[in-house]
Amino acid sequence: MTNWDQYVRPAIRAMAGYTPGEQPQSGGVLKLNTNENPYPPSPKALEAMRKVLDEHGAERLRRYPEPLGDRFRATAARVLGVQPGNILIGNGSDDILTILTRALVPEGGRVLSMEPSYLLYGTLASLQGATLQEVSFAPGWDLPEPWPQPGANLVFLPNPNSPSGTLVGLDRIRKLLPQLRAPLVLDEAYVDFAPVSGLELVREGLPVIVTRSLSKGYALAGLRFGFAIADAALVKELEKVKDSYNCDALSLAGAEAALADQEWLADTRARVLASRAHLEKGLEHLGFSVTPSQANFVWCRHPQHAAKTLFDGLKAQNIFVRLMRYAGHPDGIRITVGTPEGTQRVLDTLAGLVGRPA
Ligand SMILES: *Cc1c(COP(=O)(O)O)cnc(C)c1O
Repeated sequence: MTNWDQYVRPAIRAMAGYTPGEQPQSGGVLKLNTNENPYPPSPKALEAMRKVLDEHGAERLRRYPEPLGDRFRATAARVLGVQPGNILIGNGSDDILTILTRALVPEGGRVLSMEPSYLLYGTLASLQGATLQEVSFAPGWDLPEPWPQPGANLVFLPNPNSPSGTLVGLDRIRKLLPQLRAPLVLDEAYVDFAPVSGLELVREGLPVIVTRSLSKGYALAGLRFGFAIADAALVKELEKVKDSYNCDALSLAGAEAALADQEWLADTRARVLASRAHLEKGLEHLGFSVTPSQANFVWCRHPQHAAKTLFDGLKAQNIFVRLMRYAGHPDGIRITVGTPEGTQRVLDTLAGLVGRPA
């Protein structure tokens, strides 16, 4: 037997690894645990991928894909009002977050994240042999002022944040940026459900990198596609860090068509926001305390019923939500906004569990 401990980097051995949400593969489950879109993706995205297979199939898949995704970049640049050189493609936005950490955070460096927030940032810091420091939100889910930890290698702010679903206004970010004395990653995985984006901060030349995902707003979590919008000079450096062919030919074609179909996005967004309002109202009616959400999920807890009990009770009825436990915060559940029927089903089931009529 080989003792691999002697070869594996100590930083890797010491870390726990990121635990993704459960991905049950059987049917019949109402899956509200990892913030997927409840609607199918744009038919144009599906058609674009079919076309790759049917018309160019053998030839397109025999060859390597475009390394920088130039066609996707041209379309995304037009839709977003930036230059193609401002865009970096990724195999999901998690890939983009990895590339950013590898490029900007040295071993022994310092990464900042908000608390509570997306747990992957801590994993990325550990992989790099860097430390993660967490910054608490100010009341009202605002950024604290003065900024308590100036001078990190990288600061991550999901906007909207998960699990809170809350959004920090652009004026606050603009005001706090000089105090950070560090580049800021605005992780906009949920921006398609929010009223504003930080894209203009990139256009203004501020030290901000915006990351986007096709997993939530565009209903393409299975495709694995995300991208960053940043200063063109930084994008050039990041291109050195990424795998040469980090996005495959099918995902590039699907992502380009999905982004071009803004009509689909507007329509789907309107439906999800309507269900979100229904879910929030229904939860409040059942006595939950609900954090008002700008994303496609709702974070809540019940003053009389433990989050774990509700989580288990829902699961027993084939409804998966995410149990959220953070030190210093009461346990809560995070419920993805589903279709109107799915939303009603989770509300009816919770009504049974808390013993009140829905
Ligand atoms: C879902 C999520 C991501 C990851 O998105 P992918 O594009 O699927 O990799 C990144 N950041 C946050 C905050 C998320 O919730």
